[in-house]
Amino acid sequence: MKMLINGKWVDKPEKINIVNPYDDTLVDTVPAGTEDDVEKAIESAVEGFIINRDLPVHRRISILKKTAEIMESRFDELAKTIATEGSKTIKEARKEVGRAINTITISAEEARRLNGETIPFDSAEGSENRVGYYYRFPIGIIAAITPFNDPLNLVAHKLGPAIAGGNSVVLKPATVTPLSALKLAECLLEAGLPEKVLSVVTGYGNKIGDALVSDDRVRMISFTGGVEAGEEIMKKIGLKKVGMELGSNSPVIVMNDCDLDPAVESCVSGAFWAVGQNCIGVQRIYIHEDIYDEFKNQFVARTKQYKTGFQLDEETDMGPMINEKEAIRVIKWVDEAVEMGAACLTGGTREGSLVQPTVMENMPPGAKLDCQEIFGPVVTLYKVSTLDEAIEKSNAVNYGLHGAIFTSNVNHAFHAIKHMDVGGIIINDSTDYRVDLMPFGGVKNSGLGREGIKFSLQEMTEPKVVCFNL
Ligand code: NAP
Repeated sequence: MKMLINGKWVDKPEKINIVNPYDDTLVDTVPAGTEDDVEKAIESAVEGFIINRDLPVHRRISILKKTAEIMESRFDELAKTIATEGSKTIKEARKEVGRAINTITISAEEARRLNGETIPFDSAEGSENRVGYYYRFPIGIIAAITPFNDPLNLVAHKLGPAIAGGNSVVLKPATVTPLSALKLAECLLEAGLPEKVLSVVTGYGNKIGDALVSDDRVRMISFTGGVEAGEEIMKKIGLKKVGMELGSNSPVIVMNDCDLDPAVESCVSGAFWAVGQNCIGVQRIYIHEDIYDEFKNQFVARTKQYKTGFQLDEETDMGPMINEKEAIRVIKWVDEAVEMGAACLTGGTREGSLVQPTVMENMPPGAKLDCQEIFGPVVTLYKVSTLDEAIEKSNAVNYGLHGAIFTSNVNHAFHAIKHMDVGGIIINDSTDYRVDLMPFGGVKNSGLGREGIKFSLQEMTEPKVVCFNL
């Protein structure tokens, strides 16, 4: 595919190979964009901003609604693209396409609800004759940078609200999975999005990232990815708005009063969805000692039933990691933990980029698996005696995106809600629960700001006060 700059599909002599991570077969190529391409995209976005800012809201709504219809008509193709350039199985990919359509549809709906309010100026002495209000206006050019693990829906989470709010966007998708993003751009253009409102520059973040994030014409950086890249970007952006959706190593607490079977099922799915390459994937499970052995036995038995393999095979439960290098890293972390005294209950092996779903216990404090983000199919079980111990251990990391608790005791639930240091807490489901309209984001190193269309729209617009002196 080609990249999209200034309304034109642009090719370059230097290409990036997009391969299927299962067997490294070539899926397609995209151009390796340069800093010069970023410059052209930003120049175009300067005009694109004026165009979208001046579009009546009903036009933005109809473009986004039409985009959702076109995505629906290309449903199978989009799902296959996700499951071919990335790690997800075809079943997981279909869910992502459904969610991305929903994300764009909600963006259309929220465009209508971008309200202001009147201001009681006369509540201040001396302002008796003043009346006015505020409304929200778009901020300008938004640079959107997205990761590989949800290559369609996380792009939709940036483009939908940015366009709904009247901004222009320069998108840099993950280098390994740009095809889904380019296809979403095709849908938007076909739906009537004015050409200059969106550019998509494909290319390596470490080569073209600086030109994008440090340009003064760009007014907001909306980034989803790892902490390392997030911190690097923060050093370079100067005075701009920023949204940072970063990683985590999500904790789940399983109390002895919970309904065990659904807890096991939900935690297994949450740990191994998208091969554990999931910012809200279950990584640490704190289980009450009374039910530890039973939970462990069921959890390991269920994990052993997982079928890993080719993403497009309908029978596959878990596909490959995004590349072999990542699979090697995951096994290295497992081996390191075992050397430090941890036990591997199942998994812990790989073949190429396929890692077997892995369950650990007796994790020593300080092992990478204990405190860093694995971003792979490895989960650790911890035995705890009390809810407070579970909460204290859950919080003892630098991340805080989602937390979860399984319990039938409402007091336990409220205690966890109050004391877990996270951006979202799920009761009686795993951390891997999200709908696209809820506020989504983390505390600590998990990020800054919130996504979820209504909330992104607030971040991507500013209030302008209007005051009449009568
Ligand atoms: P990543 O390596 O941080 O890359 C994310 C994006 O940033 C890619 O497009 C990448 O480009 C770009 N990038 C890297 N360095 C850059 C720089 N210096 N300047 C500008 N752009 C730069 O993350 P990933 O491996 O794709 O994704 C995994 C991470 O994302 C995990 O930590 C996961 O938890 C997090 N994540 C968070 C959320 C959330 O909503 N909180 C959702 C999904 C994923 P290249 O591809 O060219 O390197």
